[in-house]
Amino acid sequence: MEQEQNKAKLSTYHQEHDESFLKSGFSTKCLHMGQEPEYIYGSMCPAIHLSSTYAQISPGVPFSNFDYTRCGNPTRSNLERLISGIESAKYSHVWSSGMAAINAMVNLLEIGDEIVCVDDVYGGTQRYLRNISSTKQGIKYTFIDFDDMELLKKSLHSGVKMVMCESETNPTLKVADIKTIIKIVKDYNPEIITVIDNTFISPYNCRPIELGVDIVMESVTKYINGHSDVLMGITATNCEKLHDKLFYINRCVGAVPSPFDCFMTIRGIKTLSIRIERQNSNALAIARFLESNKNIEKVCYPGLESSKYHKAAKEQFEGFGGIVSFYVKGEFDYTKKFLEKLGVITLAESLGSVETLINHPETMTHGSVPKEMKEKLGITPNFLRLSVGVEDIDDLVKDLEQALLV
Ligand SMILES: *Cc1c(COP(=O)(O)O)cnc(C)c1O
Repeated sequence: MEQEQNKAKLSTYHQEHDESFLKSGFSTKCLHMGQEPEYIYGSMCPAIHLSSTYAQISPGVPFSNFDYTRCGNPTRSNLERLISGIESAKYSHVWSSGMAAINAMVNLLEIGDEIVCVDDVYGGTQRYLRNISSTKQGIKYTFIDFDDMELLKKSLHSGVKMVMCESETNPTLKVADIKTIIKIVKDYNPEIITVIDNTFISPYNCRPIELGVDIVMESVTKYINGHSDVLMGITATNCEKLHDKLFYINRCVGAVPSPFDCFMTIRGIKTLSIRIERQNSNALAIARFLESNKNIEKVCYPGLESSKYHKAAKEQFEGFGGIVSFYVKGEFDYTKKFLEKLGVITLAESLGSVETLINHPETMTHGSVPKEMKEKLGITPNFLRLSVGVEDIDDLVKDLEQALLV
């Protein structure tokens, strides 16, 4: 009896705390949601609850809301409350990686169902759809260009059960017209699940749930954690039915992150706003610098007035993000020398962290994409993707300038 009262008090304490921040600004939510002073000791930082199991008072009556960590953990639960806050969603789940989150969404489907997916989707998602979910789980897929709304309309038929897109695509930075896509899909069949992978632009710049999408997914590994030291994914939704299914998959499959990684991510999110603000402004300055440099053939950045995605980005994003892709003038030989000469900027996969990284998609992140597809998407040997960090802008520009002179 006393135990039941304690459980109820704890739930109310959490709920009231989160509700008091629902109308706050984004930065305030980052610092406070899921992060009330701890119930017993009042500690300001959420504790890391490492225990894999929990004592029970009587059979089937655990002390609190938890019995076994795969099925629920206090640190993970704090993080899920925080994620719901920053994604403007009622429910969220955290997964052991972004790919585990993609896998979970595909697990919402049945054998024979079809996914319509954006053609320059993240390389790992493409590989998963081509080589795992289609061959082993019987999930069909079509890749289409979401710039072409007529093609989207034509691709919808009774077998399509999910439409998956990225708010900003990788690596050519196309911006999806999210509201129009959702309208077309839902007009055709409201049962089709719409999914946006928001990893590239981050919840500070865009919250697809507010634009009406069913599920937003992110690789936390990138901007949300932002420090290149955690691998994690999230899904968030306002739909109770989808939440129940994802909750079940989360516990059944067990692709859950460790309590330590959840703690690290909560810590990372505290500075999400100021990191992204700096990354937005550094990236815009770099895009402008590159656009005016004679050794550059073309710059892709939705913040540039010259970008064909500028209008869509302005309508949906609060900032244009920290990724700048560009083509250098020259062959692979020049590109390679340029990359080797960079000093402040590191050649590495991944993105979204505080330090600036550069990637050569053709040989690195998109190495496994078929050759014809690479050509169609514009992933050529002189194409590069820069993930701009929070360093001083002058140091970044100087580094690019000296390396371009090779
Ligand atoms: C990195 C990434 C993923 C996969 O996330 P992991 O955390 O690496 O598993 C999915 N989508 C996009 C857009 C990504 O950049």
